[in-house]
Amino acid sequence: MQPLSIAIAGCGPAGLAAALALSRQGHAIRLFDQFDIPRPLGSGLILQPPGMEVLDWLGPGPLLRRLGQPLDRLYGRAIGSGRVVLDVKYKALGEGLCGLGVHRAALFNVLHDAVLGANLPIASSRRIAGLTRANDGRPLVLAHDGSQHGPFDLVVDALGSRSPLIEHAAAPAQRHKLDYGAIWASLPWCGGFDPNALEQRYCEASVMIGVLPIGRLKDGEGKQAAFFWSLKTSDHPAWLREGLGTWKTRVRGLWPETGVLLDHIGDPAQLTLASYGHHTLPLPFGERIVFIGDSAHSTSPQLGQGANMALLDVAALAQALEDSDDLAAALADYARLRRLHVRLYQALSVVFTPFYQSDSLILPLIRDQLVSPVSRMPGATRLLASIVAGLMVNPLSRLRSFRTAFRA
Ligand SMILES: Cc1cc2nc3c(=O)[nH]c(=O)nc-3n(C[C@H](O)[C@H](O)[C@H](O)COP(=O)(O)OP(=O)(O)OC[C@H]3O[C@@H](n4cnc5c(N)ncnc54)[C@H](O)[C@@H]3O)c2cc1C
Repeated sequence: MQPLSIAIAGCGPAGLAAALALSRQGHAIRLFDQFDIPRPLGSGLILQPPGMEVLDWLGPGPLLRRLGQPLDRLYGRAIGSGRVVLDVKYKALGEGLCGLGVHRAALFNVLHDAVLGANLPIASSRRIAGLTRANDGRPLVLAHDGSQHGPFDLVVDALGSRSPLIEHAAAPAQRHKLDYGAIWASLPWCGGFDPNALEQRYCEASVMIGVLPIGRLKDGEGKQAAFFWSLKTSDHPAWLREGLGTWKTRVRGLWPETGVLLDHIGDPAQLTLASYGHHTLPLPFGERIVFIGDSAHSTSPQLGQGANMALLDVAALAQALEDSDDLAAALADYARLRRLHVRLYQALSVVFTPFYQSDSLILPLIRDQLVSPVSRMPGATRLLASIVAGLMVNPLSRLRSFRTAFRA
C-alpha cells in the first residue's frame, strides 16, 4: 500500500493504538477528538491476553504490565446462598496466562504518551458530526461550525459506541440500548479482597456488585480498585434522590467487606454512570472509511472484551493495509479477518449478559443451579477460560503478517 493520509477520529484505546500501528507503516496520521484536555472516561477494565500481545507488538505493553494488576481468576457468589456462580481461572489454559486489570487512565496515558512520542498530531476540541465527499478523498465535518478537515484517503472511525459516522458503513446496524448499566468509581485498594481476582456478588440478576483490582495510575502511586454497582440507567435519578447513606447501608448489608471501600465515597459524583448498548456492523467499512473498536461493535462489558477486541481490530486493519495495494480490497480483508471472532463474542455477550444483568427471575435461578457443577465438568474449565481470555477461535492466528511486521 502506498502511504495514505489517514484521519483517525477518536482517541480512545482503538484510535490511539491505530495511530501507533498505522504511522509505523508510513501512513500520514492526524487524530481528532472532542476532548479539550486529553483524558479518558470511566474507571477500570480487564485487558485480555490477545489484546496485551497487540500492545506488546506496538510498544506500550511492558509499561502497562508494570502499572496493571495481573488477574488469575474471575469469581462470583450469590448473596444469601453463597453459591459460586462465576469461577473462571486463566490457568486452565496454561501457567502464566492471565488478564490484566488496568486503570482506564493508565491505559490512556501509556498510549497517549506513545502517540506524542511518535510526533503524531492530535486535534482536540474537535467534535466530529459527519463525513462528506471530495474528488480526492473524504473530509470530516465538525459539529460546532460545520467546517471541514481533509480530505483524507482514509477515515478510521474510532469514535466509540455512539459514533455519528456509522451511517457511512456499507451495511447499517441497529443500535439497541440496554436497560442495565452500572455506576463505577476508582478507589484506593483495601485488604479483604483477592488482589488477583475480579470478585462479584449477585442477588438474582438485578443486583451485581464488583471489585476489580486495577493496579496503579502511575509509577510510585498507590494501587486502586474499580468498584461497580449494577443499575438501570432509568433508575439513576432515583438513586441520586435516595442519598448516598441509604445506598451505602444497602451495599454493606449485601457484601459487608465492601465497607472499607465505601468509606472512600463521600460524594455521588465519585460514581460515574456508564450506560451500555449493543450493535454489530455487518460490514465495518464503507467508501474510504473503516470502523474499529466500539464504533464497529459495542456490547455490555460483562465478558470484558471491548478493549481487547478494539486492539485486535487495530492489528487486523494494519495487516490488511500491509498485505494489499488496493484500499477497497484491504478494507474488505480487514472485515474478513475480524468477522468470526467479533460475531462470536457479540453473540456470547447477548447470551450471557441477562444471566448477570436483567430483571429475569428464571435466568439467575438457572445460573445459580448450573454454573458451579458445569464449571467443574471436564473441558468446561478450559472452555470458560478460553471465552473470558478472548481466545475462542484463536483470533491471533489470522494476524501472522502483523506479528511478523511488528516484531521487527
Ligand atoms: C463500565 C465499563 C467497563 C468496561 N470494562 C471492560 C473490560 O473489563 N474489558 C474490556 O476489554 N472492555 C471493557 N469495556 C469496554 C471498553 O471500555 C471499550 O470497548 C473500549 O473503550 C472501546 O474503545 P474505543 O476506542 O473503541 O472507544 P472509546 O473508548 O469510547 O473512545 C472513543 C473516543 O472518541 C471520542 N469521541 C466520541 N464521540 C466523538 C465525536 N463525535 N467527535 C470527536 N470525538 C469523539 C471520545 O472522546 C473518546 O476519546 C468497558 C466499558 C465500560 C463502559
